[in-house]
Amino acid sequence: MQTRGCGHICGESSPGIGEAGKTGEWRDSYPLIDHKKCIPAKQNKAACFQCWLYCPDAVISKTIPVQVDLEYCKGCGICAEICPAHAITMVAEETSCSS
Ligand code: SF4
Ligand code: SF4
Repeated sequence: MQTRGCGHICGESSPGIGEAGKTGEWRDSYPLIDHKKCIPAKQNKAACFQCWLYCPDAVISKTIPVQVDLEYCKGCGICAEICPAHAITMVAEETSCSS
């Protein structure tokens, strides 16, 4: 339960960073933001933030420039899919396996 500024109590929930724990080494790709394409960085003002809104792990900042906390990012790729400026590329994690 939360109390809004108007004094009403509501039952809305909000995600917390790291609720699913640190990601560890199983992630196979991570998001890389091109700040030359990212709208807040290009315009130097608070705008867009669709990636922040849709990230299920709440690990993208609503800042200029936008930052991703890779300790908790799960590599789902939703941010890259939702970005209207195509500013996010999913990059494969380096594999260190040797056979
Ligand atoms: S959705 Fe894309 S353009 Fe919008 S803030 Fe995120 S990275 Fe930048
Ligand atoms: S890949 Fe998924 S978990 Fe990682 S920042 Fe993007 S939306 Fe969030």
